[in-house]
Amino acid sequence: MIDRCGRALAALAMLLVTTPRAAADEPSVVVLENLTTAQTTKGVTLRLDLSSGVTPTVTRLSEPDRLLFDFAGTRLKTGQTLHVPLNHPLAKSVRLGQFSDEPPIARLVLDLTGRHTYRLAPQAEGKILFIGLGEGGGKPAEPAPAQPRLTVNRTSWAGESDRAAAFVVELSELTAAKAFQMSAPARLVVDLDGARLAATAAAPGKDNGLVREVRAAQFSDDVVRLVFELTGPVAWQVLRRLSPSRLVIQLGRTETRGRKVVIDPGHGGKDPGCSGCRPGLREKDVVLDIGLRAAELLRGKGVEVQMTRSDDTFIPLEERPAIANRWGADLFVSIHCNAMPDDKKGQRSGTEVYYYTPQSEAFSEVMLQAFAAQAGLPARGTFQRKFVVVRYSQMPAVLVETGYLDHAGDGGKLDTPEFRQTCALGIVHGAMQFLQRLPGSLEPIETAAAGRRPEG
Ligand SMILES: [Zn+2]
Repeated sequence: MIDRCGRALAALAMLLVTTPRAAADEPSVVVLENLTTAQTTKGVTLRLDLSSGVTPTVTRLSEPDRLLFDFAGTRLKTGQTLHVPLNHPLAKSVRLGQFSDEPPIARLVLDLTGRHTYRLAPQAEGKILFIGLGEGGGKPAEPAPAQPRLTVNRTSWAGESDRAAAFVVELSELTAAKAFQMSAPARLVVDLDGARLAATAAAPGKDNGLVREVRAAQFSDDVVRLVFELTGPVAWQVLRRLSPSRLVIQLGRTETRGRKVVIDPGHGGKDPGCSGCRPGLREKDVVLDIGLRAAELLRGKGVEVQMTRSDDTFIPLEERPAIANRWGADLFVSIHCNAMPDDKKGQRSGTEVYYYTPQSEAFSEVMLQAFAAQAGLPARGTFQRKFVVVRYSQMPAVLVETGYLDHAGDGGKLDTPEFRQTCALGIVHGAMQFLQRLPGSLEPIETAAAGRRPEG
């Protein structure tokens, strides 16, 4: 329910502020503006253009060989994930993504063909960063100057209730938008690609109990950023509409009570899963304990939970997503521990999150961040794999490999009830964060907004 007092305050504070340049909500953020690549038979060179200098943290991973370059405090300009095939003797491809929205971390992954060395060469006070493999990788193209293709002509509220509102952005032509939510203070950020803010783009304030203030700013040469100061977390979706070209940003109060989450502790019964760093430590027991703890925490938050197993029973793989599909679950979380093969036993540590369907990718990222923030093991990444439990689940579904049970550090922790409770908390945080952004609770308010030309 919405606090009446909060609504009145929101009504007072509600207005649209346009600032000339840069987002006041992220004064020190670095923008990763461009990635270009070049290659010769002897080498590969990547060129990154940044709004200011930042030195990446580099992590080398094996099986498959790859290099991770993490840029702290950095956002991708368009917020879009890039995947560039290189098909070079030294490197298969390069991927660029927004690894974390809060704090902002951009991640570049170089998929290598072996354990090759690399070199970093910053130029222009770090605003240009070359990453080289091999020798003489050629000269990547300089980026064309950013040119806005369209203008944001007008913004307005259209349609509102206590629980939902729609914000209309009128454009000279349609464009891509990337939205993400941040906390402390709660706000929704929407970046419009290729856009310039027209001087006339102002909107009247309106009280819908969800938003305190909206700001619009020219974030970079060709990105307009809208910031909605929120009274609390919301669900949102951005709808694209033709003739006239506009984006409709729907906001809704989230309701997590009564949502349905399936918790799937891996293995069980005749299938013990992997074995641990000490004799008798078995995956099936560890993940059952973590799952039971997560279920109890979720139920305490008013979420309905079904477990695929709540004791030491064998459940066939196909039956696990089937349980979730039959029940109409909102989320599916499978819990596992990892282990290395015998010849490399104990050599790897950290958390991985696997997904398969496109609707699960964002969930996997939220889950990895939330889990790693609690458990504190290295966040090894999110990976798309055809595992049965995530492949056949019809709702957002992830498989969390909490840690390496054969690793002395990870396994020693997973052997304790305290750390299992911490793992359960991480899983619950990830599930709750993603439930809060599911658009299922949005009222169908957009039809009212769509046909109406805002006045004023
Ligand atoms: Zn397992």
